[in-house]
Amino acid sequence: MNPKIDHDDDRMSRLEEKINVVADEVLDILKQLSQDNMQQLNSKIIAERMFIRDAVKKVLEGPEQKKADGVSGSNLLKNIADTVLSRFSELTPSSITSQLINLKDHLNDEDILKDTTEWLDSTVKIIKKYFDSISRRNEELEEFMRQTMKHLEETELHMSSELSSHQKKFSEDRDFENALSVNMNMIKHDIHTGNDIQSIKKAVLGKIDNINRGIEKKREQDLDRLRETERTLQAMGTRINDIKKEADEIKKRAAEIESESLRDNLTGLSNRKAYDQKIIETLADLGRYGVPSSLLICDIDDFKKINDTYGHKVGDQALKKLASLLKEKLRVNDFISRYGGEEFAIILSHTDLTGAVKAGEGMLSYINKSAFSYKGNRIALTISIGISVFKQSDDTGTVFERADSALYLAKRRGKNNVKTETDVINEVSSDKSSINLK
Ligand code: GH3
Ligand code: MG
Ligand code: MG
Repeated sequence: MNPKIDHDDDRMSRLEEKINVVADEVLDILKQLSQDNMQQLNSKIIAERMFIRDAVKKVLEGPEQKKADGVSGSNLLKNIADTVLSRFSELTPSSITSQLINLKDHLNDEDILKDTTEWLDSTVKIIKKYFDSISRRNEELEEFMRQTMKHLEETELHMSSELSSHQKKFSEDRDFENALSVNMNMIKHDIHTGNDIQSIKKAVLGKIDNINRGIEKKREQDLDRLRETERTLQAMGTRINDIKKEADEIKKRAAEIESESLRDNLTGLSNRKAYDQKIIETLADLGRYGVPSSLLICDIDDFKKINDTYGHKVGDQALKKLASLLKEKLRVNDFISRYGGEEFAIILSHTDLTGAVKAGEGMLSYINKSAFSYKGNRIALTISIGISVFKQSDDTGTVFERADSALYLAKRRGKNNVKTETDVINEVSSDKSSINLK
């Protein structure tokens, strides 16, 4: 074994040991300074702290050191600097590594090494930059976490409110909410336990992907549900239309039935029931608006004979014929009904007694001019008419009775004529006077 090599090895290992001591001391000082939140980090402060430390004093000031190791003060310093900077290079981010290399190059320059203050100052600048860089990364991480949490909270809030309106209705919403909640908790857990920004980012983005997939799935479910609802609504719309059509049909039929119930089957005119309603309305109109109206009761003369001569069917034809003749002579607002048998009741609105007599006589002459025949034989078809005028004091019975009395008078006076309630009164008074004369 070469004693020179042994000696050199021994010397190097001792030197290395001392370098390590100083490097540890420097790091420890820097750590303390950073914990103390020292804003102005400079070589003077580091130097002050360095030189009060016993371990450093021993390494740098011991006169026997130079002798024993054969290393000059500046070389020792250079070695220490190299070691310390190597240590920092392991910790420094890539952005300041190039500066560190520069500094190392400078340290090889003997002139620079003489100025320990300058070295310390440069070192401190790098270290400060390193600390700044660490704190910037912390700020970046904090900001990232803050923003992520904010977004996640917003998402959570939005989804929760979105869900709350639907959750009672749909079970898949509950599943989605559970999945969302699980992912949220996982994200929170990742952020709290994550060691570095990359792994936190990766974990958070993974969970956000899960949430997005969940949202996508829910959107598809919502869309399906919407389509289903649309289909249901469409079906309901069709059904409602059908029901509406049915209801319209029923209404129409009801109106028809009502109308039929008021119509006389043989003649197609209004029937007795319709007359009963109409006479009430007419009396009401008179009471409310003072509308004058007249009632005409028409009865076919000697109808029994027609039946007896030509048969009941011919009688029916005669009834129909007469009904249409009467109707032809009436105005739109007039009312005609088959009161019963071979009797017709006509109500002429806005018509006083004089007008009603004119209308009645017009009907008689129209019927007289009309020919009704059976098997080439002309059949005589005439009517008698009795007229009354509606009074405020009337009820449905009194106004009819007066017209009926007038009809009876018309029959007695030879039929095929028109008599009024006035004629009845006049007849009664003339009868009285003739009795008086006797
Ligand atoms: P008058 O001139 O006095 O009214 O004599 P009339 O024969 O017309 O009166 P009467 O009351 O004696 O007879 C009415 C007849 O009308 C008796 C009945 O058979 C007939 N009649 C009533 N309704 C109908 C019907 O719907 N069809 C037919 N063919 N005859 C009817
Ligand atoms: Mg009659
Ligand atoms: Mg008759």
